[in-house]
This record gives sequence, structure tokens and C-alpha cells, in this order.
Amino acid sequence: MIRVTIWNEGLHEKSSPEISDIYPEGIHGLLSKVLSTQEDFEVRTATLSQRKFGLPDELLESTDVLIWWGHMAHQMVPDKLARKVQNRVLRGMGFIALHSAHFSKPFKLLMGTSCSLNWRDGDFERLWVINPAHPIARGIDPYIEIPVEEMYGERFDIPEPDELVFAGWFSGGNLFRSGCCWRRGLGKVFYFQPGHEANPTYHIPQIQQIIINAVRWAAPTNVIDEIVCPHEPVSPEQARQDRTQGK
Ligand code: ZN
Repeated sequence: MIRVTIWNEGLHEKSSPEISDIYPEGIHGLLSKVLSTQEDFEVRTATLSQRKFGLPDELLESTDVLIWWGHMAHQMVPDKLARKVQNRVLRGMGFIALHSAHFSKPFKLLMGTSCSLNWRDGDFERLWVINPAHPIARGIDPYIEIPVEEMYGERFDIPEPDELVFAGWFSGGNLFRSGCCWRRGLGKVFYFQPGHEANPTYHIPQIQQIIINAVRWAAPTNVIDEIVCPHEPVSPEQARQDRTQGK
């Protein structure tokens, strides 16, 4: 089983009737329903208003893939929690940053850059598959049209992605690296641009399929409890000679 935790700040859905009409159970609620269709996923949700900002140690340490949606409350996430998320990724957990999570503390820590971009509300997006052989693009059409989505445009101040899976074209003329993969320590990180809270983007089946694929891709292959920097008292060659001489 892949243990997935969907973390959402969960504030827009409470403060705006237009947004709660689109996501009556919150963005995390809809994504939880979508991911729970997969028999090999064990899905939990977490929100900012919960104990320990939704991510007590026991939940974080039992998460294989953490999905993060945040926007208006990035600053309310304690630095200490963001560092714990970063550390868990370095030890093997997968991390999926959705849409405005480009400016979330954990994502910025993992990238080491400003992660700034250009934006404009209410554009038309054509999301192109750049790498059809990539596991996250499995079963996805050559492009997906999103009738209304917030424009995110270059330049996106991120480190060069290890793999670029999707690129967005907007009718206003902007381009964007919309689906980017990195490896950080033992963990895998995926950033996915679509998903503005006021647009029903996460209801689009192909967008849902991308998130399902991303969870499978980001699932850990090796997780360690602690990052260590071990002293090696003898060279590997010396150790081999010692063994053959029975020392
Ligand atoms: Zn947005």
C-alpha cells in the first residue's frame, strides 16, 4: 500500500461560497475521493486548522507521499514543520506540490530558489505532454484543455527540473513549466501547476489521472529513519584484505 496524505490549508473553501460550491468537501476532500479509487492507496487528509497544523510527527513519519495545497496561509505553517517535511523527503518520502504550493515553505526549502512566477486570473490553458514516456504521463492525451485556469507564466524561478513532463500554453501568450520532477536525497518531488481554487480543475478526469500517476511515481523505493554521515575507519580495500586474512 502507498500511504498518501493530502494536506490542504483548507481556508478558501470555508470563506468563499463560490469556492465551496466547487469543492464542498474542500480540495482535499475531492482529491481524497479520487485517490481512494486506487486499491493500493491508503489515503488520509490533513488541514492547517488541525492539531500540529495537521501534520503531527506520527502522521508525517507514516506518510509515503505527501500532497500539498496551500495559498493564503503559507506563513502560518511553522518553519520547524516545513523543515521536518524537507527532512522526511530527503529520507525518502515523495512530495507533490499543487498549484500555489509553488510558494509553500516546504517546496521552497526543497528547491532552494525563490519559486516566484508571473500570474493572471482567468485564462485558457492547453497543457501539453512534453514527455509521453514518463510514468506521470501514462494514459494522458497529447494535451488537455482547461477552459478556465489561472495563468502561471515564466519565468518560474526553480532549479532546472530533472525531468519536465508537462508544459502549459495560455491564450494570453504565456508559457509555463507545468509539470516538473526533481530528486532530493532519497525522495522524489513533483510540481503540478493546474488547480486554482476558484476553477473546477480537479474535477477533470485527466487531471485526476495525472495526480494518481504522480503518487505512484513519487512513492518511495528506500526510506531511512535518520540522515547520517558515517565515519569509515578503513578503506573498502583494507576491509576486504582484513576479511580474507581472517582479521
Ligand atoms: Zn491560484
